Amino acid sequence: MTHPKISQAETIVRGPVLLRGPVPAVARPSRTEAEEAVRTLIRWAGDDPGREGLVGTPERVARAYEEFFAGYRSDPVDLLTRTFEETDGYDEMVVLKDIRLESHCEHHMVPIIGKAHVAYLPRRRVVGISKLARVVEVYARRLQIQEKMTAQIANTIDQVLQPQGVAVVVEASHQCMTTRGIHKTGVVMVTSRMLGAFRTDPSTRREFLSMIGSPTSGRAD
Ligand SMILES: [Zn+2]
Repeated sequence: MTHPKISQAETIVRGPVLLRGPVPAVARPSRTEAEEAVRTLIRWAGDDPGREGLVGTPERVARAYEEFFAGYRSDPVDLLTRTFEETDGYDEMVVLKDIRLESHCEHHMVPIIGKAHVAYLPRRRVVGISKLARVVEVYARRLQIQEKMTAQIANTIDQVLQPQGVAVVVEASHQCMTTRGIHKTGVVMVTSRMLGAFRTDPSTRREFLSMIGSPTSGRAD
């Protein structure tokens, strides 16, 4: 089924199209079913969900999930659309750096912890800067891979504000790498998405990268 709003957005996005990704329509199980699933995982880990220390755990885990995955209940497009305003001609770079980011990897459902840096070059309108942080948060509070999240944040800002350019850099460590599998600690993954002037104009990109402390080489992709 084609959504007219989505296909219109596709004409605006440059580069690979990774839209906000319509949240899949899934039938949510009841809280009781979710708690039962946690009890199953406790037994799978090898412990007794009936013992004193674990009795309240399924309920706490379910509540924690509501917080970790609150992003499924918010639309980041709405967030930006509601708040833009007239700018009096301001057309310099707007940079929000070191936004704390807490997400969960969609392959192992363990935390991805890091920070995001977001910039755009306004064209006629700006958005309250806290809204940029909220966009990061809404996408982070879903099951994610870092590459997709980076693109979704940039593409959403690009589509809604239609600025002269958008840049997003995410630096994060993945607990699926540090606590399991190859057990590599201290590894930080850096992803970036540059659109518009940040992609085409090396000096704009350099200015942004130096403002955030340049975790990347400055390549356009
Ligand atoms: Zn993982």
